[in-house]
Amino acid sequence: MNAELRERLRTIYAEVDAAIAGAAPKCDASGRCCRFTEYGHTLFLSLFEAEILLEAGLPYEQPVTRDGCPFQIDNRCTARAHRPLGCRIYFCDPAFQDQQGPLTEAAIAKMKSLADEFGTGWRYAPLHVFLNEAEPPAPAPSSRRSLPLLA
Ligand code: SF4
Repeated sequence: MNAELRERLRTIYAEVDAAIAGAAPKCDASGRCCRFTEYGHTLFLSLFEAEILLEAGLPYEQPVTRDGCPFQIDNRCTARAHRPLGCRIYFCDPAFQDQQGPLTEAAIAKMKSLADEFGTGWRYAPLHVFLNEAEPPAPAPSSRRSLPLLA
């Protein structure tokens, strides 16, 4: 991924994180948000977000099903610094439900603007789709994986 593009995407993440910190939604660390089928939802993300997540080089096994995220271990996210928007914005807290939609829409709009500016095109799909399309995880934990669409 282009370094400037990555930095600007990280800025969007930082803005979202600051907004979440200000709202201070409650998290009981149940881990349900990462067990998609059990909790009845699907984590969609852009190709941008998938690239950032995969660049972390975290190990996982393919094929990945739509049931849950392979980066959740013992109810904890092992990809926290690299997690996509949905993971940053989604909380069980009933008092936070109304704020999630607008926060997501605003951040996605910024990402789409970046896609236009950098001429990358735009793609949005469930997490398991991107994880299964990536090069198979290499045995070395430090290895990097990348998707082929962003130069
Ligand atoms: S990246 Fe982290 S927060 Fe997001 S679904 Fe996976 S384990 Fe959960």
